[in-house]
Amino acid sequence: GATLGVIGGGQLGRMFAHAAQRMGYLTAVLDPDADSPAGRVSHHHIHTDYNDVDGLARLAGLADAITTEFENVPAPSLDHLAVARPVRPAAAAVSIAQDRLREKNHFVGCGVDCAPYAAIDAAEQIPLVPANLLPGILKTARLGYDGKGQQRVSTREELAAAWERAGQVPCVLEKLMPLDYECSVIVARGQDGQIVHFPAQRNLHRNGILAVTEVHPQNIPESVGRLAVNSAIAIAEGLQYVGVLCVEFFVLADGALVVNEMAPRPHNSGHWTLDACDVSQFELQVRTLAGLPLTTPRQHSPALMLNLLGDLWFPDLDTVGSPRGADAPVEPRWADVLALPGAHLHLYGKTEPRRGRKMGHLTITGKDIDTVRSTADFAAALLGLPIPLSE
Ligand code: ATP
Ligand code: MG
Ligand code: MG
Repeated sequence: GATLGVIGGGQLGRMFAHAAQRMGYLTAVLDPDADSPAGRVSHHHIHTDYNDVDGLARLAGLADAITTEFENVPAPSLDHLAVARPVRPAAAAVSIAQDRLREKNHFVGCGVDCAPYAAIDAAEQIPLVPANLLPGILKTARLGYDGKGQQRVSTREELAAAWERAGQVPCVLEKLMPLDYECSVIVARGQDGQIVHFPAQRNLHRNGILAVTEVHPQNIPESVGRLAVNSAIAIAEGLQYVGVLCVEFFVLADGALVVNEMAPRPHNSGHWTLDACDVSQFELQVRTLAGLPLTTPRQHSPALMLNLLGDLWFPDLDTVGSPRGADAPVEPRWADVLALPGAHLHLYGKTEPRRGRKMGHLTITGKDIDTVRSTADFAAALLGLPIPLSE
């Protein structure tokens, strides 16, 4: 049978492999970790660095088409593979998503508003930064995720100190925006230009990490959802993108929508699609990679997803504070959670729980949003998580 390849062996690669295998494909994973979540469930596991040319050649030998599951795959590796096999999304699109400055310039070029920003890559720029960008957030242009590499700054002095602390690497300073809430949109675009999307998803972050996604028609005004979807489509088309793309947005206190960033792959905020849609984001990733038709996904249930971070494994570890004498990790009481109707548990097979590490997620489905929310409240209480929508 045909083999689909993925660079990166984390949970996104694992869920991609599940979707590919369900449709009859074999899977091949390239990841430096000998025991990665995706590697464990795949037919072939190439255990090398992302830029090891021999490993890439082996992947190209095994796989008929190749995708990625995390955005920091070196773009030259993708270019290298593309000589031998279809690579989707292409290196050109992935490399824009890898650099916040190029990403924001792309958004502006597509006519989609983002927060006011300035590039910071030399000390001389700091005195010239427009005053309206403060207070702001200094973000490293590359390699940040889950809020890592970000510092809030109120003054030019703080900005200068923060840039020093960041190691004087290229950064973007963004104005701190008054957020009402956050949302994201996932689109899938085929090689023929056909584009389909999921509904706008409402997201809650805690400590810079996605905590909750809730999707039903009443929690985002229709006009905001429509604008977010149209913006995500424009961003994908502007890249001539092939694959699954997630675009994150801020909804401001005055109701305006601004784009935050994009991820050139399925996204944590789309995990609910596995349990609440007839076609998941991972199936669409498989379809775009294999050149199969896309169909517009239909959400058949309201959904609420709770991320399960490593903190849960340490009952004495405060979810926002510091350790209180915790030692050995303890398995949370999944049986109690699974006794709740509409609870769908996903664990990624990671053996080492760590604070802030994404270990799994729990999606709640139900006949209406009130049922979903009350089940989610129960599940959160059983797990010792904050009430999902209390913020
Ligand atoms: P990930 O890729 O894991 O989503 P990241 O490290 O790339 O995270 P961002 O998405 O840029 O980080 O920011 C993380 C969170 O910080 C946002 O979801 C939002 O809650 C907050 N945030 C970021 N930028 C701003 C801003 N300009 N104004 C207000 N809040 C912001
Ligand atoms: Mg990001
Ligand atoms: Mg983000």
